[in-house]
Amino acid sequence: MKIAIPTETMVGESRVAASPDTVKAFIKKGAEVTVQAGAGRGASIPDDAFAAAGAKIEPSVGRDADIVLTVRRPSGELLSTLKRGAILMGGLEPYGDKAGLEAIAASGATAFAMELMPRITRAQSMDILSSQANLAGYKAVIDAAFHFTRAFPMMMTAAGTVPAAKVFIMGVGVAGLQAIATARRLGAIVSATDVRKATEEQVKSLGAKFVYADIADAATSGGYAKELSAEDKAKQAALVANHVKTQDVIITTALIPGRPAPVLITEEMVESMKPGSIIVDLAVERGGNCPLSKPDQIVEHKGVKIVGTVNLAGKLAGNASPLFAKNLANFLDLMITKEGALKIDDADECIKGTMIARDGALVHPMFTSK
Ligand code: NAD
Repeated sequence: MKIAIPTETMVGESRVAASPDTVKAFIKKGAEVTVQAGAGRGASIPDDAFAAAGAKIEPSVGRDADIVLTVRRPSGELLSTLKRGAILMGGLEPYGDKAGLEAIAASGATAFAMELMPRITRAQSMDILSSQANLAGYKAVIDAAFHFTRAFPMMMTAAGTVPAAKVFIMGVGVAGLQAIATARRLGAIVSATDVRKATEEQVKSLGAKFVYADIADAATSGGYAKELSAEDKAKQAALVANHVKTQDVIITTALIPGRPAPVLITEEMVESMKPGSIIVDLAVERGGNCPLSKPDQIVEHKGVKIVGTVNLAGKLAGNASPLFAKNLANFLDLMITKEGALKIDDADECIKGTMIARDGALVHPMFTSK
């Protein structure tokens, strides 16, 4: 069983899909692991560390691999070298780019998009969205504090009192919860909102205030949110409009799977905020929760800075990579028998839920239905 770890080719992607620990674990299971030279550089994992774990280091990888692990969708060049039937596993970005998915299918690989991992208890250790969103939520608050020209905690000094910053977190999934916890640790006064009612208890347990409009619970059975009705959108917008005027920092994290991110902070709301306020839009890659945010830019609008850094987890590649790698290793474990052979159990919920392509065709119902 040959496992290949290529260097990520997407601009700005500093993570790598393996760690020395996962390499060791694969080798223990009888695999041969090849890591592309320099693949770990962005995550501060030198080639030597992979070599010490037992990996071969080569200038290019993939051609003879049975399994290729990636953080992002691989380049066309890598896809064209894959063996037919090779397993491709990673963050394959399944939403909104059918042509890209068809290119993966055309490679003949059996491809697994880890973003589609079902939200079941057993799958938690394989969930790249959670492991990465947690870091992104933390980094969003740290970045907001960096751009903010004031302090987060209250300080009473002989020269006067510095008031605590007011931080509002919109969307209380994995990223939002970590953002609440981080902002609280820094001493801010924190409030948060979501459209899933279950989040109220979580917000309160972290010591933040819950801001909730009188709307229907938008939770789905899969643990995600669905889009609000027009009436509920209006109710939520009115509540948010009132609240944001009083806030110094807003972190938006609201996503709806497979749909553009919902607009939560309109231009008018931005203009109602005090100069010097900061918005960090974690949903920028999916269209943004604020229409003014731009990918990888800091937009200044009437004194308010809107930070649209994409791939915030990737900015913490030293932590994000080992966690991502462990998610992949845990998933791959489902396909390795005790004897060290590869076996894909089509009936397994996690395998079925993430498999997007096989034998040259797209196979996931989300992408095969017209
Ligand atoms: P997500 O990244 O899809 O969305 C972020 C948050 O935005 C969600 O809480 C969502 O409800 C919220 N949101 C959507 N539209 C909104 C709007 N208009 N206004 C305000 N908020 C809005 O979510 P996530 O981080 O992936 O987590 C979703 C849920 O799934 C959480 O409860 C999480 O604990 C759960 N989860 C379960 C598992 C598992 O069991 N394996 C794994 C990961 C997450």
